Amino acid sequence: MPATTMDQLVSLCKRRGFIYQNADIYGGLQGVYDYGPLGVELKNNLKAAWWRAMVYERDDVEGLDAAILTNQKVLHYSGHEDTFSDPMVDCKKCKGRFRADHINGKCPNCGSTELTEPRPFNLMFKTAIGPVDDGSSFGYLRPETAQAIFTQFKNVVDSTSRKLPFGIAQIGKSFRNEITPRNFIFRVREFEQAELEFFIEPGEDEKWHEIWKETRIQWWLDQGLKKEHMNIYTTPKEDLAHYAKACYDIEYQFPHGMEELEGIANRTDYDLGNHTKAQEEMNLTSHCHANPDSTQKLCIMDDNNKWVVPFVIEPSMGIDRGVLAVMTEAYTEEDLGEGNSRIVLKLKKHLAPIKVAVIPLKKNNEQIMNKCHEIKQNLLKLGIGRVALENTGNIGKAYRRHDEIGTPLCITVDFETIEQQPESVTIRDRDTMEQHRVNVADLPNYLREYFL
Ligand code: ATP
Repeated sequence: MPATTMDQLVSLCKRRGFIYQNADIYGGLQGVYDYGPLGVELKNNLKAAWWRAMVYERDDVEGLDAAILTNQKVLHYSGHEDTFSDPMVDCKKCKGRFRADHINGKCPNCGSTELTEPRPFNLMFKTAIGPVDDGSSFGYLRPETAQAIFTQFKNVVDSTSRKLPFGIAQIGKSFRNEITPRNFIFRVREFEQAELEFFIEPGEDEKWHEIWKETRIQWWLDQGLKKEHMNIYTTPKEDLAHYAKACYDIEYQFPHGMEELEGIANRTDYDLGNHTKAQEEMNLTSHCHANPDSTQKLCIMDDNNKWVVPFVIEPSMGIDRGVLAVMTEAYTEEDLGEGNSRIVLKLKKHLAPIKVAVIPLKKNNEQIMNKCHEIKQNLLKLGIGRVALENTGNIGKAYRRHDEIGTPLCITVDFETIEQQPESVTIRDRDTMEQHRVNVADLPNYLREYFL
C-alpha cells in the first residue's frame, strides 16, 4: 500500500535527507523547499528519465535550456501580465486570503462567510534589472518554461532545419507567488517543470493531442505509478485556460487527494501567434493581441512550400509533483511477522538515489575497508549511477536505512571475502530481502544486467 498520509513522507524525507524546509534554521520560507543528499539524486534521476524519453529516444525533439530572468515583453505578449492571476477572497473576520476556487463560500481558517468579492492576484515575481531600482527596468522570474521555447522557435528551426512535426523540450525552474502554498512540495512558489512544446500542422492537433496523452500516461506507468491511482481529467470547455482549445490533466492519488500531476494542452497557434510579427499575414486561428514589438515571423515552411504558424500540443509536468508521486507510490510499510516491520521505498531502480550500497561487515578492519573501496570504485565505472560506501558498520542498521531510501541492492564485504578464493560478496535484494553470494569478478556483469 502506498503512503496514506503526507506526514509519513514528510518525516521520511527529513529523517533520511530527501527534502528539507528552506531556511529551516530561521523558521523557513513558506512554499520553498530544498532537496537534500538523496532528494537531489532522485530528482535528477526523474529528470533524466524524462529527458531520455522525450529527447534521446525520439527523432523529432530538440532540447533547450533558457534563462529564468524573463523580458517583460515576453510575458506581456504571452498574456501572463493580464491574465496570470487567481481570483482571491479575503476573510473579513480573520483576515486570511484564499483562492476563490478553493473554498466553498466559507473561510477555511475560521469558518466565517464574511468574505470580500473575488479580486485578481498576479502570481508572477517581478524583479528590478540593472543598477537602478526606479521601476523603469524590470523583468520577471518565469512562471513557466514554455515561453522561451516560443520566443526561441525561429532560432531553433533555423539552426536545426527541422520540419513539422517536431518538438522542443525543456526542464527548469519556474516561480509562482502562490497564495496558499501547501501539501509539502505539491504546491510551492519555486518549482521545476518539464515541458515539451510539440509543433504540428494546423488540423492535426486533435490527433496529436491523443497521441501525447497516451504517451505521457505510459511514461508515468514506467516511473512506477499504478494505473488505479491515476485519473485522466478532461477540462470542461468553460474552465479552459485562455490559450487552450482542449486540455487533459493526468491526476494522481496524492496523500491529500486526487490532483493534477501533468497537464496536456492543445494551445493551438495562440503562443506563436501572439509573439510573431506581421500577424495579419499569418492566417491565425487564435484571437491574438496586436504585437508591434516582435522582430521575427514565427512560422515554418510546410511540405507544400507554404508558410504556416504551427499548432502546439504541450505536455507539461511538475518535477516536484513527480517526485512526490513516485515517493507516495513507492512508500511501503511491511509487516515482517513476530512484531517486526520495516519501511521500504520500492522505487523503480532507475529512480533510486543510490543504486548499490557497499557495506563493510566490520568498519575497523582495514582489509575489509580496502576491499569495499576497491569494489565501489570499480562499480562506479559501470555508469549505473551512485554507488555508495555505507559507513555505519552495523549491518542491520545499514539494511534498514537502505530499505527506507530505496537502494535496490546492498553488497556486503565480510571475512569470507578477504579470506577465501575466489573472492565473493553477499548481495541483498531490497524487495525480497533475499541474499546470495556472487564472485567479486562477476559483479560488473551482474550489475550491468540488473541495471542497464
Ligand atoms: P494548478 O491548477 O495545480 O495550480 P496549473 O494548472 O496552474 O496547476 P500548469 O500551469 O498547467 O499548472 O503547470 C504545469 C505543471 O506544473 C502542473 O501540472 C504541475 O505539475 C506543475 N506546477 C504548477 N504549479 C505548481 C506549483 N505551484 N508547485 C509545484 N508544481 C506546480
